[in-house]
Amino acid sequence: MKTLLIGFWGALLAFGAQAKLNVVATTADLAAIAQEIGGKQVDITTLARPSEDPHFVDAKPSFIVKLNKADVLLQGGAELEIGWLPPLLAGARNAKIAAGAPGDVRCNEGVQMLEVPGSLDRSQGDIHAAGNPHFLVDPANAKIVAQHIADAFGKLDGAQAATYQTNLKKFTDALDAKLVEWEKKFEPFKGAAIVAYHNSWPYFAKRFGLQIGLFLEPKPGIPPSPAHLAAVIGKMKEQKVKVIFHDPYLDHQTAGSVASSTGAVVAEVTQYPGGVKGSEGGYIAMMDYLVDVVTRALAGQAK
Ligand SMILES: [Zn+2]
Repeated sequence: MKTLLIGFWGALLAFGAQAKLNVVATTADLAAIAQEIGGKQVDITTLARPSEDPHFVDAKPSFIVKLNKADVLLQGGAELEIGWLPPLLAGARNAKIAAGAPGDVRCNEGVQMLEVPGSLDRSQGDIHAAGNPHFLVDPANAKIVAQHIADAFGKLDGAQAATYQTNLKKFTDALDAKLVEWEKKFEPFKGAAIVAYHNSWPYFAKRFGLQIGLFLEPKPGIPPSPAHLAAVIGKMKEQKVKVIFHDPYLDHQTAGSVASSTGAVVAEVTQYPGGVKGSEGGYIAMMDYLVDVVTRALAGQAK
């Protein structure tokens, strides 16, 4: 009887331990959306810190342990994580999240990718060789990703499938309402030109009617050279560009010196909740921060 009881409680504990989906997200934006969908039914680990460059994440050995225990891996896809994730996955030896398994979720699936080159060319160090992977700052893409995550969670945890769909509806309804508000805030700035340090803003620019075609990096992932910066400064003066986007992991001094040479302001932007102060609190809170900081900078108001 005693053995039977131990067996019973053991089984119950094991069941309890499996009740929550064990989710690993490569970046904080994916984790934030997964939290909206998963609610209390999921445990989420995020690999990259929100202030870290998603292309060059510091791969810690502890990540292998997390990946080994994961039921689901959410990755951005389009080669965003190609520089650091594959060796971790090889070390994790987890069939549940191996390529093609139900727990392998590529979040860019179904997203209309921008800047997809005609042919792959990494010869000059271009880290956007499979198209621009920074698609989540367009809220329409956040809806696509949320749907994808809700479907994946539902397949892996059928008992909670309806809850995931309910959470999805709540999130997308909130996002739809916010999008109207955000688009309205950008109305006075249609067509405004902005310079970005790294080319991570084409989806944001397209959504909100901005022109972001000049970059401090000569190519994505290649540090700015003095000659390139001089050319950018010339064009900024010509086009009267007044705002420079700076992500937290990029060199602040370079952005600051270009700003002082041109009379522009540096807008401290992020694509990850918690990446800069004021952007914490989830995907919608981060977008609120972003819309606020950018429209203020365009209006010539210091934050
Ligand atoms: Zn990039």
